[in-house]
Amino acid sequence: MENIFNLSEKVLSLSENALLRVKNKFDEIDKITEFNQNKVLKAFIDNGVSEASFTASTGYGYGDRGRETIEAAFAQIVGAEDSLFRHNFVSGTHTISVALFGMLRPGDVMLSVTGRPYDTLLGVLGVSEGEGSLKEFGVEFEEIDLINNAFDFEQIEKRLKASFVKVAYIQRSRGYSLRNSLTVEEIAEVTRFVKKISPDTIVMVDNCYGEFVQTTEPTQHGADLIMGSLIKNPGGGIAPTGGYIAGRKDLIEKCACRLTAPGIGKEVGATLGHSRQLFMGLFNAPHVTGEAVKTAVFASALFESLGFEVTPTVDETRADIIQAVVLRNPDALIAFCQGMQKGAPVDSFVTPEPWDMPGYDNQVIMAAGAFTLGASIELSADAPIREPYAAWMQGGLNFHSAKTGVLLGLESMIDKGVI
Ligand SMILES: *Cc1c(COP(=O)(O)O)cnc(C)c1O
Repeated sequence: MENIFNLSEKVLSLSENALLRVKNKFDEIDKITEFNQNKVLKAFIDNGVSEASFTASTGYGYGDRGRETIEAAFAQIVGAEDSLFRHNFVSGTHTISVALFGMLRPGDVMLSVTGRPYDTLLGVLGVSEGEGSLKEFGVEFEEIDLINNAFDFEQIEKRLKASFVKVAYIQRSRGYSLRNSLTVEEIAEVTRFVKKISPDTIVMVDNCYGEFVQTTEPTQHGADLIMGSLIKNPGGGIAPTGGYIAGRKDLIEKCACRLTAPGIGKEVGATLGHSRQLFMGLFNAPHVTGEAVKTAVFASALFESLGFEVTPTVDETRADIIQAVVLRNPDALIAFCQGMQKGAPVDSFVTPEPWDMPGYDNQVIMAAGAFTLGASIELSADAPIREPYAAWMQGGLNFHSAKTGVLLGLESMIDKGVI
């Protein structure tokens, strides 16, 4: 077959070997994708999705059937009582912020049992400067670090018994850290543990990057609320913006009253013509997530064969779509991101450089050539310029093009003489 991107013999042969290495894993991913795809299909059928569901509402958006249908369908998919699944959420951080402000009142305690949350949430919590943060409203934030990638059950028990904790918070994905992402089974275990000691504590899961990677979601294992972004997995690369919250009906109402207004709740919110994209995105989400997981597994095999530390490794259970590759020096990191950018379907001609991204404490370099600005379900790599110079890559709308992106990243590292 023609070598369309003129990849070197070395890169092509490394790629062939990596493909052989991931064969069984890909079969496993296909099985999960098929199950999740049918779960979504069934929910669309059961909830009577129709052409009329795509109708645009304006103004208050009262009685928008499409909005109500997708929220019922999504709740069914994740085994929840109810959900908010909307374009009105401007980002994952906004979505999680709405859910937190929905649950927490002055004097309440929020306890993260997975250590320090994702960077952009620190302003929401008031851990870093954030106008109108939870801290300003008198909500106390506490955290218990993971120990060797496992929950510190002893400390969690001690804290839960000391005084009432309103929210126990779990972050499924690793974010920009080298800890493992948490499997649904691990989340189920800590959820049971929290509920046994403190039944009234609300268990919330930042589910970003985890949706459809396994066959169940945390809401099917006792979590009260899950939250995520629609420009990641559940938007299937088609939703142009948005977020979701799913879980207990009474809690969803509280979130809705924070998203819109107290006393108004979830009966409003014009869809403005976005419903069709949200439905299509959700329908494609299991498949696209599977493609992204394949891309991650392939990159893991490729870079591991070159002697780099990768996490997860090929054989580890996947809990999200993130692949971390420890490149050990800033030049390798920058070369990889710049090479990957050359394989993007959009903006392939730009050269990413490290910059001071709002909400992040270090300079960050990002390779992203996406149809949707910032959509990390599309092939992208993010790397804070700090030790150990790891690239966190994720996404890939289809494995075939994403594989090319990864290989161009490697080719660029070879060209620059950094490996
Ligand atoms: C993406 C992400 C968020 C939300 O980030 P946004 O960029 O605001 O969408 C929160 N937590 C984790 C773990 C994430 O990966």
